Amino acid sequence: MKIQITLTCPQCKSINVVKNGKKKAKKQNYLCNACSRQFIGDPALSYKGAHSNTITLIMRMWMRGCGIRAISVILNISLSKVLKTLEKQQVVL
Ligand SMILES: [Zn+2]
Repeated sequence: MKIQITLTCPQCKSINVVKNGKKKAKKQNYLCNACSRQFIGDPALSYKGAHSNTITLIMRMWMRGCGIRAISVILNISLSKVLKTLEKQQVVL
């Protein structure tokens, strides 16, 4: 059985990405041909706060009335990641 994962660039959402060597922790590094950003694919990331869909999830939960601490516990990410995301999205606390 073959499993195929389509990687998109976290910055410009392009699918035009190529392998670009490995990081120190032996994780596959990728390079976006459109905007030259380097990144590690979501499945290889050990910290969930860096996943590309985390910001969307935080914003959805916030809009549905979840508290900051609840979001942090449910998504298994740090409290400061939640706070920084809300600050960047200019949510009035
Ligand atoms: Zn890109």
